[in-house]
Amino acid sequence: MTGTNRVKLKPGDTIGILGGGQLGRMLAMAAARLGLRCQVFSPDPDSPAFDVVLNATCAEYADVEALELFAGDVDVITYEFENVPSAAAMVLDARRPVLPNRKILETTQDRLAEKDFVTRLGIGTAAYADVTSVASLREALFRIGLPAVLKTRRFGYDGKGQAIIREGDDIAKVWTSLGTKSAILEAFVPFEREISVIAARSADGQVECFDVTENEHRDHILKVSRAPAPIPDDLAEEALHIAGKIATELDYVGVLAVEMFVLANGTGPKVLVNEIAPRVHNSGHWTLDGASVSQFEQHIRAIAGWPLGKPVRHGQVTMTNLIGDEINRYEDWLTVPGATVHIYGKGAPKPGRKMGHVTEVVRPNGK
Ligand code: AMP
Repeated sequence: MTGTNRVKLKPGDTIGILGGGQLGRMLAMAAARLGLRCQVFSPDPDSPAFDVVLNATCAEYADVEALELFAGDVDVITYEFENVPSAAAMVLDARRPVLPNRKILETTQDRLAEKDFVTRLGIGTAAYADVTSVASLREALFRIGLPAVLKTRRFGYDGKGQAIIREGDDIAKVWTSLGTKSAILEAFVPFEREISVIAARSADGQVECFDVTENEHRDHILKVSRAPAPIPDDLAEEALHIAGKIATELDYVGVLAVEMFVLANGTGPKVLVNEIAPRVHNSGHWTLDGASVSQFEQHIRAIAGWPLGKPVRHGQVTMTNLIGDEINRYEDWLTVPGATVHIYGKGAPKPGRKMGHVTEVVRPNGK
């Protein structure tokens, strides 16, 4: 590592962003507002982030020469997705500071390592077990019970690489259909609601969290986020504390999201951690229009070595994702009073593809 604490960018300096999706695009736009430049590295020539930066590197993550040239062009490197290949992160890390620290990827790329880490901190998760064969799946099901959720340890997103196992299911068939020998079995959590906390941490240890957000998924894809989540204050405090603790224990620099389940159990509601995303997150998009500082700006400030903002929420905020064909209704959304429309500039809408989002803020005076 090239010295996390030594990063101190000045306006005009350049941030390298790995990944060219909408998250990279919104990071680059936030950086531009602060007078910082970005260079985006992505293998996809149609990357929406390319449209908003002057310099782009279109190359594979295995292209060492391209990575080295990219590192030479920038002052600090960050990423917009968690599946950055570790070899690429190593090449870059030898040349420029990579923030958040690439070691964090080892924990968050692997659902088992992530759950073990959270458990070591004394934070609750669904009961889980390492599964490597149909025999160990049967053993895990015996211990954890049904229903349960089988997930690939790596590369799962938006419900991909997951299967719910219910009474009467053919266990061998479910195992084969997952197509991996490296999985985790989780108890199915009968959650009351899903929430997330977006936390920012600076290199000197300052932590700033946005208000707890409630998330509604459709077909495993985030559809609507609402802030603040309608949960009791003590539960919100607990969720914020968990996110802060995770950020601190990871010695994290940047923005991370912690997805959690709120469980209504006999002894009162409690919070279980589902997943950590070491990056800006869809459930934090509301902060662009709904708070004084956005998640994207917080991330840029953190990796630039600048002070974090103390985010102030402007009211009750709702963020609605425009998924697939829904983007075709953008003109309708443009006429909704109070709505702020974001279009990611992606190509053709495909089912399940996040094409844009809309934020609506109800201010405390009802306007
Ligand atoms: P994940 O990829 O782990 O974020 O899971 C995607 C979605 O699947 C979550 O947002 C939940 O809606 C659901 N899910 C995941 N794990 C569980 C679980 N153990 N129990 C109940 N629902 C789950």
